[in-house]
Amino acid sequence: MTDAQSTTTTEPEGERTTFASLGLPPAILRALDDVGYETPSAIQAETIPLLLSGRDLIGLAQTGTGKTAAFALPVLAAVEVGRRSPQALVLTPTRELAVQVCEAFERYAAHLGGVHVLPIYGGQAYGVQLSALRRGVHVVVGTPGRIMDHLAKGTLDLSGLTHVVLDEADEMLRMGFAEDVDQILQATPAEKQVALFSATMPRQIRAISQQHLREPAEVTVRQGSSSSPSITQRALMVSYQQKLEALTRVLEVEPFEAAIVFTRTRNETETVAERLRARGYAAAAISGDVAQPQREKTIDQLRSGDLDVLVATDVAARGLDVERISHVINYDLPIDTESYTHRIGRTGRAGRTGDAISFVTPRERRMLGAIEKATRATVDIMPMPSAGEVNATRLTRFDDAITAALAETDRIERFREIVAHYVEHHDAAQEDVAAALAVVAQGDTPLLLDEHADRALQTSRTERADRPARAGDSAPGERRSRRGPSDATTYRLAVGSRKGVEPRQIVGALANEGGLGRDDFGRIQIRWDFTLVELPELDRSQLEKLSRTRISGVPIDIRVDTGRDGGRADRGDRRERSERGDRGDRSERPPRKPRHGDR
Ligand code: AMP
Repeated sequence: MTDAQSTTTTEPEGERTTFASLGLPPAILRALDDVGYETPSAIQAETIPLLLSGRDLIGLAQTGTGKTAAFALPVLAAVEVGRRSPQALVLTPTRELAVQVCEAFERYAAHLGGVHVLPIYGGQAYGVQLSALRRGVHVVVGTPGRIMDHLAKGTLDLSGLTHVVLDEADEMLRMGFAEDVDQILQATPAEKQVALFSATMPRQIRAISQQHLREPAEVTVRQGSSSSPSITQRALMVSYQQKLEALTRVLEVEPFEAAIVFTRTRNETETVAERLRARGYAAAAISGDVAQPQREKTIDQLRSGDLDVLVATDVAARGLDVERISHVINYDLPIDTESYTHRIGRTGRAGRTGDAISFVTPRERRMLGAIEKATRATVDIMPMPSAGEVNATRLTRFDDAITAALAETDRIERFREIVAHYVEHHDAAQEDVAAALAVVAQGDTPLLLDEHADRALQTSRTERADRPARAGDSAPGERRSRRGPSDATTYRLAVGSRKGVEPRQIVGALANEGGLGRDDFGRIQIRWDFTLVELPELDRSQLEKLSRTRISGVPIDIRVDTGRDGGRADRGDRRERSERGDRGDRSERPPRKPRHGDR
């Protein structure tokens, strides 16, 4: 590779390019509008003009950066629809990726009028592929093995190719496709454009590019800057289908003041906001589509407390400065780490602390590493809030609502007579009447989630769903596993409720770092400055790994509990309970606005 022009993307906030300015044809811009992308990602802004100009290119970018569109859009801009032979070949390491890339091409080609894209991978019957090839396709996306088979059989004509893309090139090499890739490239015409995308740049890839790329431009997605240390970052592993449930559960159990929820596309902001409103949240959506006066009005409402949840795209939330925002929730991960740091910077304003929670699908797992690197901070994995936790907060709010109503003495006085009249004339117990009134207030929606039906959602969860803690039930912050280890050792962690730690964080962190399973956890007692956890005896390597673990930013300094410092489980338990009187687990949670799920 000679004369490589090397670019590292830099994107000052507020100065993003538009898709239109990249030189893409109107039919593609319309398709992008349909799918709801607002602005090009860093890799797209940088590579699309280069590829449109005909340059060969090396793009150093990971999945989740928008690299698919970065190569697909310029390919589609060049396709001659009237010529029905393969003009572009995209090589991918796996069939799953091949299918995804095909789907992306099809979405972007929606207004191009009859562009045919065909996935070709092993495991699928040849017949389907052959008849599609005979009918004529413009773009072939395939895995190297099956493409080689077609070449050997003479069933794939590459003579008319003008574009070749190697997607996730490092992955293809890792899977042993180096030779196949090389041979396929040799079977393509000399005059063509080659784009190679890879997350890393091992020597072998340099060798391929030296042999097959001509004076390629090189584009790297720069890692963003570090974030404020006052922001605690967590990630929740979910499938795409679980995201909405995860969002509502997180909003129920997290003590938030105001939250901003980021989605990737404009269309989704509306859908998510709508669903949240249906569940009783004061939520609104803003995106690049919303006119400026309306946007300002919405942000004022968020500032004043008329709104508690804002669902936004990156563009719409840029520069947004509202002190009340205690939580940033990445419903969809952003396309680059730069956007991630901008997003989470919407919380932790004016010297406050903030929380960032990202929903991460299995495919995006690798992006977490990039985020940790970019923010120079750890991202703790948090489990999906269980039905038990949700129910505990609902019961707290139910109690709070009663307490608040009891304080309205005038109104209580008037109803007292009515209730007394009922009790007298219907021979009913006062508790039953109170319960009946709760039924009236609650309507048809059940107050509590069904904890037994909760299993499916708990795939990423490492602790069992507890029944909701009731006051006087156990000491504050305590949970008890139904089947703890029989010969448990009590370990002491140097972090407690002072840092807002909850059992699920303890379980999440220890399970992840220490390789523990859900049944390994016994009793967990969270105290002000430390936590006691019953676990099977840990070996040296587990202890060593765990010694570096942080929870809420604090090194946990795990060690066997010796019972000093008043930390012994049984002694501490009794003392704390009597000191705290009736301040059970539930009453420790901050009071919540009644409209958020009293139903
Ligand atoms: P990729 O890195 O190509 O796998 O893309 C990751 C995800 O980002 C996909 O779901 C794309 O649909 C989405 N995406 C790509 N480009 C953009 C963009 N400019 N704006 C919003 N989302 C995008």
